[in-house]
Amino acid sequence: MSPSFEQKAKHRLRVEKREDLCWPFALSAPRKALLAWYLRHRRALPWRLLWAETKDPFVVWVSEIMLQQTVIKAVIPVYARFLQLFPDLRTFAAASEQDVRQAVRGLGYYRRFAFMHKAAQQLASSGSDWPTTFAGWRALPGVGDYTASAVSSIAFNEPAAVVDGNVERVFCRLLDLREPPNAPALKRAFQVMAKELLDEKNPGDFNQALMELGQTVCTVSQPGCKACPIKSVCLAYARDSQSLAPAAKLKGPPPMSVRMKLILLRQGNMIGLVERPKQARFLGSTAGFVTLLETADGEVLGDGWSGAPVHAKLHKLSLKKGEILGSIRHSITHHRIQAEVQLVDGETAGLPVTWLAAVDVERHLISNLDRKAWTLTRSILSHKDTKRDKSSPGARKSKPNVALFAD
Ligand code: SF4
Repeated sequence: MSPSFEQKAKHRLRVEKREDLCWPFALSAPRKALLAWYLRHRRALPWRLLWAETKDPFVVWVSEIMLQQTVIKAVIPVYARFLQLFPDLRTFAAASEQDVRQAVRGLGYYRRFAFMHKAAQQLASSGSDWPTTFAGWRALPGVGDYTASAVSSIAFNEPAAVVDGNVERVFCRLLDLREPPNAPALKRAFQVMAKELLDEKNPGDFNQALMELGQTVCTVSQPGCKACPIKSVCLAYARDSQSLAPAAKLKGPPPMSVRMKLILLRQGNMIGLVERPKQARFLGSTAGFVTLLETADGEVLGDGWSGAPVHAKLHKLSLKKGEILGSIRHSITHHRIQAEVQLVDGETAGLPVTWLAAVDVERHLISNLDRKAWTLTRSILSHKDTKRDKSSPGARKSKPNVALFAD
């Protein structure tokens, strides 16, 4: 007898909820083995050392925000700089927006730091203690499930389980699930299963152990199963199917192509930076080069900044007098940007410009897009300087930062 409509619907619901998923092994032994492995092999990352030394939740919070969508290697130097400038919650809360942006320059996704700053001000002005629970952290501006679980478990021993991309991969392999690890139903099931697996006596270390296993042993390609503390319960290891589990991630909508012009203003040896308006579509409130969004035909779009006519005027000037230095590619969230970099002499088109010596420009640039444009500019102009030096008879070697912008 074929299944009724009701039976089919029930089955679909069960599959969507992934009620079929459960741990096929007793949890106590792998839980213990994973924690012991972590306590022995964990990397001495700066935030771990600082937390062990200070027991200040601030140092945990800062690291968790910085590590969102950002690799550890990029975070380490910025983390050190940030804590040197803002060693505690109160100093951070009292800082200006500009100082915060400067402190985190190069990390990208600046909205997370704007939210963090807002949350710090909220905490500092309330005068209350740190939130200690998952719910308390989740209520702060810009704090999602992941950050709330991570900070409350590490800093306050809250039994909140963390599930990130690394944990999803480990779970898929333990269960030999050859499915996209980010499928919504799987994500929900993993959250429940992570809670079951969690060591409630030591949730902070256990959460870090699972993530560390995914980062250093159960890696995307070529997992180091021989060194894995939980290989005895791993189905993918037993079946030698690590390359099949998980399947490729579900992809979101295709990225959107964006064309823009980045215009570097120059006056003699000085380079001009401008403050992008808050409402700019990209990189709002960051100091950088003049940015004009364009259509595929090179027409300036009104929404590039605020649509003010002054920018169109500048665009016209750049067409007449600008020197095209080249183009760069850059990704911001779901946008793939192609930006033409131009140098314009002696014009500001009425924009409020901060003039800086070439040596000072880099440390004032917040976004990686501007940094790429600046690297291109330096390399092109240095090359020109070198050629000019070689071709002028009797010329001595130029000093890069002085000659770079001296015409
Ligand atoms: S045994 Fe291999 S595949 Fe399984 S969890 Fe460990 S590292 Fe990953």
